Amino acid sequence: MTDSRDVPAGPLTPAGPSAGVHAFIAGLPKAELHVHHVGSASPRIVSELAARHPDSKVPTDPEALVDYFTFTDFAHFIEVYLSVVDLIRTPEDVRLLTYEVARDLARQQVRYAELTITPFSSTRRGIDEVAFMDAIEDARKAAEADFGTVLRWCFDIPGEAGPEAAEETTRLATDDRVRPEGLVSFGLGGPEIGVPRPQFKPYFDRAIAAGLRSVPHAGETTGPQTVWDALTHLRAERIGHGTSSARDEKLLAHLAEHRIALEVCPTSNIATRAVRTLDEHPIRRFAEAGVLVTVNSDDPPMFGTDLNAEYAVAARLLDLDEQGLADLAKNAVEASFLDGPGKARLAAEIDSYTAGWSAP
Ligand SMILES: [Zn+2]
Repeated sequence: MTDSRDVPAGPLTPAGPSAGVHAFIAGLPKAELHVHHVGSASPRIVSELAARHPDSKVPTDPEALVDYFTFTDFAHFIEVYLSVVDLIRTPEDVRLLTYEVARDLARQQVRYAELTITPFSSTRRGIDEVAFMDAIEDARKAAEADFGTVLRWCFDIPGEAGPEAAEETTRLATDDRVRPEGLVSFGLGGPEIGVPRPQFKPYFDRAIAAGLRSVPHAGETTGPQTVWDALTHLRAERIGHGTSSARDEKLLAHLAEHRIALEVCPTSNIATRAVRTLDEHPIRRFAEAGVLVTVNSDDPPMFGTDLNAEYAVAARLLDLDEQGLADLAKNAVEASFLDGPGKARLAAEIDSYTAGWSAP
């Protein structure tokens, strides 16, 4: 192309990381803290699920699926997401999805992941709750044995589904006869606009009393007050996204002082238009303010990304070298709900990988 409009804008668009940095990221042991169960269904997994349910309109051919996963707008994304939800009909579908998601994480050297699951989407559709829990637990144990990736669960309330969903999610997360062994945290997802966080306080109170950690989404599509609400009313220990925190100095100082991590998902923020462009992403502002920044992938195949690609984005936006990337990975270990020895082990693995690294 010779048109002058196609000439790169120079210093305004800094170069991406080198091939060496990409190779470092690919082998770096990592923890993933913000990734959704159904939202992690890659074309490979969706194709397997679609083949099990031939009446579905979802294509089974992986190449056709790549087109199917190319979204024209946010409404189209929701439509495709719901068509994938519709493929999760039996406990065996749940098991297959969970196990295969772990395989995709393991390929990226993810050693530990807290997977956000919305059990209400499945129990509402008639999947037996005990069979559902057995399916995810069976997949968790098999994934740990087969791939060495440790999975833990965050059960989240789909906020848009209202009090019925909140009550059902809380019951599934706190009833000793149902709650799965791998459950560590309690979340809140869905749209923020028109769904104020404070109304969920009683449910979070019950979950916290049952020993679960609080990790709501907040400040992704609304302002910093939503993050304050999540901290005050829902006693958030980490914030899902928290993008708009950048607009409130006092909030940034509070997050930094209390080591409340932000689960930053850069590509997702662009895909959902929460942030206009990657270069305008506030991740650098967070890091400069001393906030504990973690990088995560949210709904990776649906946003055309994966955790390794998000680390490469962070390397560019935060100007990180290999040591900087290792520190970023260790932020996620610190902010995770692993126990002390588990955190020490994974941090040591990151250190020894970094010490032994020599660029190709
Ligand atoms: Zn999310």
